Amino acid sequence: MAITVNMQDIHERAEAAFFGLAVGDALGATVEFMTPGEITARYGCHKDIIGGGWLHLEPGGVTDDTEMSLCIARAIDAAHGWSLERIAENFALWLKSKPVDIGDTCRRGIRNYMLKGALETPFNEWDAGNGACMRMLPVALHTVGNNDMLVRYALAQGHLTHNHPLSDEACIALGRLVHMAVFGMSKVSMRKEAEDLFARHENFRFEPYRGLATAYVVDTMQTVFHHFFKTRDFEECLIRTVNQGGDADTTGAIAGMLAGAYYGMESIPKRWLRKMDKNLLGEISVLAKRMIELTPLHNQVTGSP
Ligand code: ADP
Ligand code: MG
Repeated sequence: MAITVNMQDIHERAEAAFFGLAVGDALGATVEFMTPGEITARYGCHKDIIGGGWLHLEPGGVTDDTEMSLCIARAIDAAHGWSLERIAENFALWLKSKPVDIGDTCRRGIRNYMLKGALETPFNEWDAGNGACMRMLPVALHTVGNNDMLVRYALAQGHLTHNHPLSDEACIALGRLVHMAVFGMSKVSMRKEAEDLFARHENFRFEPYRGLATAYVVDTMQTVFHHFFKTRDFEECLIRTVNQGGDADTTGAIAGMLAGAYYGMESIPKRWLRKMDKNLLGEISVLAKRMIELTPLHNQVTGSP
């Protein structure tokens, strides 16, 4: 990538990406498992963070997408770098804390670690859920500027619970797109990156958009791509994404991380941020900064060891 590195800008975009993830999760959770028709009948257009949904959340409450991302970010922070064991340990602690929601494949992988110490689950044809992809943000931020690291860590974290080529590809592609967005690259170049993914795996092609927003990683990524590339600001991208229903907290979280990184903090509606837990946003802010400080890129630019 031909880029000039502006660490301040990268820090701000990293923070916006993490806020975007949490906001998208909180916004989408209200309409998870609903069809677009049901959402229209009930809310007209769903555009405020009001909680509720099948999980009966408080307004601003978040789910597994944000919580698993925090598990990874806290592990990287505590280890001052990559530690798959710490990530697995944080997932185990999180599972024991009886999370408000958890995917079946995520649960199976974490239980496998708890019972057998397994850090990699074997290939399974049903491991193409979006559970590995939705928690990619801290991995993407921690590997900014280093594609090889991104690929290695994306696969390692993904394989704790999901081992399927479509999940792997989605994790890596999403990580690359986050990298490009935090470097301030254009949507045209991000679209080319997405098209490289379609060249490798036709399944992800989103035009014509089929309108499916299930937790199958192919449907999830098609929904996010469609709305991210078709809209021109954070709010519109997220509203359109979650009004697609289905796995709306996860499509919202993934669209939120990409749109947050791309459009920056100013683009995130204040009315949404006001609904979020202040302690959560405080921790996210610190962790986003830490993820970038712990990148090799940061060391190269600042000369720290
Ligand atoms: P998570 O990935 O968050 O742990 P699940 O295990 O519940 O969540 O999987 C999410 C969804 O992905 C499920 O509805 C499952 O049927 C779907 N899915 C997983 N693998 C495939 C596949 N190979 N083809 C189609 N759908 C799949
Ligand atoms: Mg969720």
